Amino acid sequence: MRKNMFKTTALALLCGFGLIAQDKGTTSKEVGEIVTYLTSDELQGRDTGSEGLEKAAVYIENIFKENKVAPYFDTYRDTFEVEGQETYNVVGYLKGNDKKLAKELVIIGAHFDHIGKGKEHNGDVIANGANDNAAGSAAVITLAKYFAKTKSNKRSVLFVLFGAEEKGLLGSKHLAQVLKEKQADLYTMINFEMIGVALNNQPHKAYITGFEESNMAKKLNEYSGENLIGFLPKAKEYQLFKRSDNYPFYKAFHVPCQTISTFDFTNYKYYHHVDDEAENLDFNFMADLINDCVPAIEKVFNTTEKEIKLNKK
Ligand SMILES: [Zn+2]
Repeated sequence: MRKNMFKTTALALLCGFGLIAQDKGTTSKEVGEIVTYLTSDELQGRDTGSEGLEKAAVYIENIFKENKVAPYFDTYRDTFEVEGQETYNVVGYLKGNDKKLAKELVIIGAHFDHIGKGKEHNGDVIANGANDNAAGSAAVITLAKYFAKTKSNKRSVLFVLFGAEEKGLLGSKHLAQVLKEKQADLYTMINFEMIGVALNNQPHKAYITGFEESNMAKKLNEYSGENLIGFLPKAKEYQLFKRSDNYPFYKAFHVPCQTISTFDFTNYKYYHHVDDEAENLDFNFMADLINDCVPAIEKVFNTTEKEIKLNKK
């Protein structure tokens, strides 16, 4: 009895300090800190070529460095040019721990750039881009931290924060081309975009773009043991599959590359609006979603066969 009581107390204490939640993946506190920094006015809406984007990149590089996420190239930056201006993707790398599977690559990505300024509203002109896409960036950063700690990936993984998405998916187009030239063996790419608030009235937590393109949703649900990923008819109607950084990889490699999102056209009023601010996001929901993705993504990294496949047309 005493022993059990001690156990319960110890458990309660650990929970209190957030250690148990941390072991699982992330916490609402950690997600909140990342989103709050990336959306602070100091970063001026993270426009391509801006000082604010540079600060965001340095912040992410420092987290990668502190947590022993390696640079994939000579540095963390995959630099390219947009309208005569230099910009970059930030690319972290975790080599796979299985000799054979380490030759295969999985990409976990999100764009970290935004549009800089927006239409003035209540004296505010900075479009801070919280849901679009500090939210997805926080998922990629916390997943990178988690897997750098557990070292539980048999396949090699790139954790990518894409630049110039808002300019027309330019960062992902660039990296897809670079990897194609290197003849990378890309298994699959999972992208995170606008995951800051829960879906309205759905049994699943998020949806995936290009639902019908592959068995990815089915597999992620099977791997997670949860009703995690569903179908959003509006995503199909608006062809969201082609509107984020997953698409250039799909085009280049013809493998399943899809975006996980929770933006359903009814649950968030501030798309490309200056009120897309951190305070309008639900960090508890985000941490919960990211943590539910952890076991699913871990399986993606580790199954012996490439189980996620494009559907035959
Ligand atoms: Zn976006």
